[in-house]
Amino acid sequence: MVPGNKRVTDLNRRQLIGGSATLATGFVASRYFARAADGYPFTLGVASGEPTHDGLVLWTRLAPTPLALDGSGGMSKPVSVTWDVATDDAMRNVVRTGIAEADRRFAHSVHMEVDGLEPGRPYWYRFTALGQQSPIGRSKTAPAPSAGPQQMRFAFASCSNWEAGYFSAYRHIAEENPDLVIFLGDYIYESTYPDSQADRIVRKHDGPTASDLASYRNRYALYRTDADLQALHAAAPCLMTWDDHEVENDYANAWSERMETDSQDFLRRRAAAYQAYYEHMPLGERAIPHGSTLRLYERFRFGELVTFSVLDGRQYRSKQPCEVPPLRRGHVAPDSCVERADRNRTLLGAEQEDWLFDGFKQSSTSWNIIAQEQLVAQLRQKDREGESGHWTDGWDGYPAARQRMLDTISACQPVNPVFFGGDIHSFWVTDLKSDFGNPSSLSVATEFVGTSITSDPPPYELIMGVLPENPHVQYFESRQRGYVSVDLFRERMETRLQVISDRRDPKATVSTLRRFVVESGKAGAIPA
Ligand code: FE
Ligand code: CA
Repeated sequence: MVPGNKRVTDLNRRQLIGGSATLATGFVASRYFARAADGYPFTLGVASGEPTHDGLVLWTRLAPTPLALDGSGGMSKPVSVTWDVATDDAMRNVVRTGIAEADRRFAHSVHMEVDGLEPGRPYWYRFTALGQQSPIGRSKTAPAPSAGPQQMRFAFASCSNWEAGYFSAYRHIAEENPDLVIFLGDYIYESTYPDSQADRIVRKHDGPTASDLASYRNRYALYRTDADLQALHAAAPCLMTWDDHEVENDYANAWSERMETDSQDFLRRRAAAYQAYYEHMPLGERAIPHGSTLRLYERFRFGELVTFSVLDGRQYRSKQPCEVPPLRRGHVAPDSCVERADRNRTLLGAEQEDWLFDGFKQSSTSWNIIAQEQLVAQLRQKDREGESGHWTDGWDGYPAARQRMLDTISACQPVNPVFFGGDIHSFWVTDLKSDFGNPSSLSVATEFVGTSITSDPPPYELIMGVLPENPHVQYFESRQRGYVSVDLFRERMETRLQVISDRRDPKATVSTLRRFVVESGKAGAIPA
């Protein structure tokens, strides 16, 4: 073992998680800046992700000066990083070890794909570099593909705007000790509130709106200095997808929300944002960015219990329909917008759509969860003139693509399809209908959308007012921040809509707002 700094080597997982859970954020910030002064490189913590039955991706990034203006984290030369995986939380029984190289190409990040592990069990891991040791993270492999259905606990989260509040919701997910956590996008916000909106700011971003590699890197680095988010990543492996704010509000593929922005210029910005995303997430080799592209969507199987199809709804989509110059971004387009219903329009892109539909055909697990960014259900609402219309930036802007997906589910009958989503900063429980225009048509899948970790909600009264026209919506609540916890069994899915007491309070408490059950073989959630 490296004779590292004792404060760090003595940290075990219990101390890491329990400790950070009770620390005020101000203290944590001063602690990491104090460490930065002595060159401590693990200021951004550790993470693991993409669990398979025999492997995991382990992540860290060396950043002794995490917010160095040039985005380097204060690093320049290549560094060898030792990683260890153990079967115990004190790292005594190390079963896998190796050395990874970290260099400037990917901001001294490490993405270690570890294999040869045993299925369905916890592991602990740690990195050593520059004479220092990282905190110890806990992870867990998936059960063997043929393992009979077991119980599994996981949570999903979205929309954590640093400026809008503290990440207490993340801390409370960690304390639930889940087998897995799924991030559904808006993990960072690229934009910074202007001074004119100072009343909305609980804690400031370190810089203006991110637009190049250095500023995206530093936005991720800032978020990762958060003790609650570090505690969550150190507590459980994750699956990741993104939404718009990892790049720019309401972008679509090569198109900025600003219509005057040239697509080639926008793709350069997207390349920087995607690279910074890869650098900060525990993603496997498939996700190494190439130019402005990054293969994020992927499928993960947990024994015979569940398959997760994690989608990318931003990179390949058609641009939003019926734009209102100078902005293309989401708005309620009236039903007179013909472009919206164009059959050639796509949300996932042809390749990803084929991949998803093949997955529906081949799936043999008891549950099929589609983890993606946005509300899938139709939401008939009113535009500014009071005309009936639909929001253009979500699945409602791509109704033909949604219909293809739901028709394929009807045809292929994957067992127990359930959609998880985020983006809309509110809880939704819906029945996904074979024909949204006909309330008595078949429900083909169940949907849960989680509220934001901190981000501002949509207007409650306004949405309540349109719910009578959307009878497939079983539940809606926008006034609270939090996440969704899931206990999954072969015969049923139990969900808890979890809410924090106050996003402005770094010590916010958690409680359960509502519980729902989905019974195997029957689409649609039932209040529990
Ligand atoms: Fe958001
Ligand atoms: Ca979003």
